[in-house]
Amino acid sequence: MASAENLDVVIVGAGISGMYMLYRMRKLGLSTRVIEMGADLGGTWYWNRYPGARCDTDTIEYSYSFDEDLQQEWEWPERYPTQPEILTYLNHVADRHDLRPDIMFSTRVEAAVFDEASNRWRVTTAGGAAFSARFLIMATGCISEPNIPEIAGMETFEGPIHHTARFPHEGVDFSGLRAGVIGTGSSGVQAIPVIAEQATHLTVFQRSPQWSVPAHNRPTDPDLVAEIKADYAGFRARNRLESGAQLSHIPANDVSALEVGEAERQRILEERWQLGGFPFFGAFNDIVINPESNKATADFVRAKIRAIVKDPAVAEMLTPDYTIHCKRPVLDSGYFETYNRSNVRLVDINAAPIQAITPRGIRTAENEYALDIIVLATGFDAMTGALLKIDIRGRDGLKLRDKWADGPVNYLGLQVTGFPNLFTITGPGSPSVLTNMMVAIEQHVEWVTDCISYMVEREHACIEASAEAQAAWVAHVNEVASGTLWVSCHNWYQGYNIPGKPRVFMPLPNFPPYVEKCEAVVANGYEGFVLS
Ligand code: NAP
Repeated sequence: MASAENLDVVIVGAGISGMYMLYRMRKLGLSTRVIEMGADLGGTWYWNRYPGARCDTDTIEYSYSFDEDLQQEWEWPERYPTQPEILTYLNHVADRHDLRPDIMFSTRVEAAVFDEASNRWRVTTAGGAAFSARFLIMATGCISEPNIPEIAGMETFEGPIHHTARFPHEGVDFSGLRAGVIGTGSSGVQAIPVIAEQATHLTVFQRSPQWSVPAHNRPTDPDLVAEIKADYAGFRARNRLESGAQLSHIPANDVSALEVGEAERQRILEERWQLGGFPFFGAFNDIVINPESNKATADFVRAKIRAIVKDPAVAEMLTPDYTIHCKRPVLDSGYFETYNRSNVRLVDINAAPIQAITPRGIRTAENEYALDIIVLATGFDAMTGALLKIDIRGRDGLKLRDKWADGPVNYLGLQVTGFPNLFTITGPGSPSVLTNMMVAIEQHVEWVTDCISYMVEREHACIEASAEAQAAWVAHVNEVASGTLWVSCHNWYQGYNIPGKPRVFMPLPNFPPYVEKCEAVVANGYEGFVLS
């Protein structure tokens, strides 16, 4: 057995959460190492380099809040930052706080085993390195493990096949090529208009039509930025309170779609449509809980799609018939307009499924489509994929893979019973992807930091979620989710995109009450946790 480097803390992942976690652990004076699979930092923003990749949350709130000077100094050129801009920003943060020396790149964690005799985690990497740490913090991201569908004949294709989350770093020039894109989620919807402009021809293979609203990207408004920077801390605090499902600082209208007349309803929806982005979903306060309000909103978007797309048959194929906002909402820049181009074709693979990838293209039940390059915009094994890829074993050799065989269980989305001193940043069972991720990450990192500091000060060896608290928490998450329309369609929140994955609603709706709960747990001496 390789001798292990002794540390206080091992953090897995050098994305937004791993970087901030490292910063915090250093402030506590703890010896810390971040282990990162990628050749550089940035997580999501390191890997997702597909054409058109940009964040869909306003830059002014998709940034760290912990460094006041940084947030005052940094200037974002547009409403939504591009992938390269976010990566530049994260590199700046790393340099500013000298984070790199404690990050090991190009190193994949293979296993983490809890040793009950020493109360320490032994973490081993694919390259054979070993670490022994008191605390293990999984900052592996919610949407990081790509979903590569198993399609017959994939290996026979003569051109390149790229997943959006593993796109070549040097970029891809689509000019002169016949391109095919499989998948129309956020990644596909961003990539498709850009690829269509470059490629000779683009074929989009759509399994489900997508509810998408215009992003309305634009240059940053200097007056708005000045106003926010005059009290950035206040803005962040309000943002936390408002950071519900609409992922925006712009508050939702506190009115039901059913409380207003038809003309007023249309006026509000149009006003929100013009605002662009997630605030559209805040037009009314009940679109994720009331089927009729949801339908009114959906009908408005259906009419928009039909007005934009000129060919009625194509418009029909692009118009969803399921609950709006049930799948994670998508923002676009000219997505539906792209289908008016003469070099773009839409193929409904729900009606005629893909049978095989052939040496020269894709064959469906109806046709064969000649292609030079294929892009898989097929998403991720979300929330649990990256965690379960690692062989994590807790007390009595219990494997997390077995513990979660029927879906993830934990307490507060932070800790799993039987896995002491192991924390998951934005784990399943926490608001995570139903919140602005920056806000969710900072809240978790700060909670874990306070917890570790508490333990160090009081010389506690272990903290572990109690079985009772965990069971009650899982029941709570299920109860909250079942009161929403998020359980009414086949979304990745419930694992529907991954064949064989347990159908469990993974994130917890509603951030502000969650924060209150986390604070109450601390105020009551880490209620629900066993400290030893
Ligand atoms: P996604 O939303 O899961 O979309 C994947 C697409 O591929 C869906 O259209 C899906 O169809 C289709 N698909 C999956 N497996 C397939 C198969 N075997 N055969 C054919 N089609 C298949 O993935 P994503 O677009 O990468 O986005 C994932 C999440 O990442 C987003 O929801 C968002 O949270 C985040 N994201 C954010 C941004 C941003 O900030 N701008 C950008 C990209 C991603 P079905 O709908 O039928 O499953």
